[in-house]
Amino acid sequence: MTDRYAVIGNPVSHSQSPFIHTEFARQTGEDIQYDRLYADLDKFDEVVGQFIKDGAKGLNITLPFKGNAYRMATELTERARAAEAVNTLTFKDGKIYGDNTDGVGLVRDIVSNLDFPIAGQRVLILGAGGAVRGVLGPILAEKPASLTIANRTLIKAEALAHQFSAHGKIEAVGYEVLAGRQFDIIINATSTSLSNELPPIPAGVFAARTLAYDMVYSKGLTPFLRRAQTENAGMLADGLGMLVEQAAESFRIWRGIQPDTRKVTNELRDLLA
Ligand code: NDP
Repeated sequence: MTDRYAVIGNPVSHSQSPFIHTEFARQTGEDIQYDRLYADLDKFDEVVGQFIKDGAKGLNITLPFKGNAYRMATELTERARAAEAVNTLTFKDGKIYGDNTDGVGLVRDIVSNLDFPIAGQRVLILGAGGAVRGVLGPILAEKPASLTIANRTLIKAEALAHQFSAHGKIEAVGYEVLAGRQFDIIINATSTSLSNELPPIPAGVFAARTLAYDMVYSKGLTPFLRRAQTENAGMLADGLGMLVEQAAESFRIWRGIQPDTRKVTNELRDLLA
């Protein structure tokens, strides 16, 4: 029998997850059906409950429900617990397993796909929202030389630094403190690119060998990546690779097979062009 999966969100029509998982399944010969599931903001538990009753095997969770999924899970992995957010649910033997694959997705994209080590590098993350909470643990596990979080609302960056202090040292700063400093990896994890804005980074933070990484993916360069290009950053990347890598980790959790991500990322890039 075909196993059923879906991505749940509000909105969800833009999600590329059905394309990605369908390609993974085709590639690996797995018999799955993967759909989009819309839920009203107050109906997450109800919609997921029905999906489970219908015999579904798992769910990916996108905005704004990662916290709901975290609360719904009866079993949590260490990384989901640290992130306080779940993007992958697995339904098995009457239990609801919650995991968070966003951080692993980002780290694999940077380290394996872009071939850019995080170990020993000075890493700067812009933003202190849900996405950052999901990636801090896996980034610290790579042992960067330093990790700095800059956020408009400083107290949110400070709270994250405190919360992850058992995993490693994090410096929390306001954007103005970045003036005169440079970093090897700068990750834009704010939502500014979605509104065609730029986070308020001072000039000069990009060095000649800096990797500028925007978690948002888009057809052309985002304002953040355009700024990095203007300042001659060494490498530019958007979040499409992260999206496909986090999906691959979900697929591995569900099906026990690691799909070929490079091919699917290229196909998706063509599709979005
Ligand atoms: P949140 O809404 O939780 O956080 C948004 C962050 O952006 C906050 O730190 C906020 O700062 C900051 N921000 C928003 N507007 C501005 C502005 N004008 N200037 C400076 N900072 C600003 O979002 P998420 O953390 O969930 O997601 C962040 C981005 O990452 C999204 O665009 C999302 O699409 C992307 N993402 C990509 C993934 C992928 O697979 N490629 C996976 C997950 C997320 P403040 O705290 O001060 O409000």
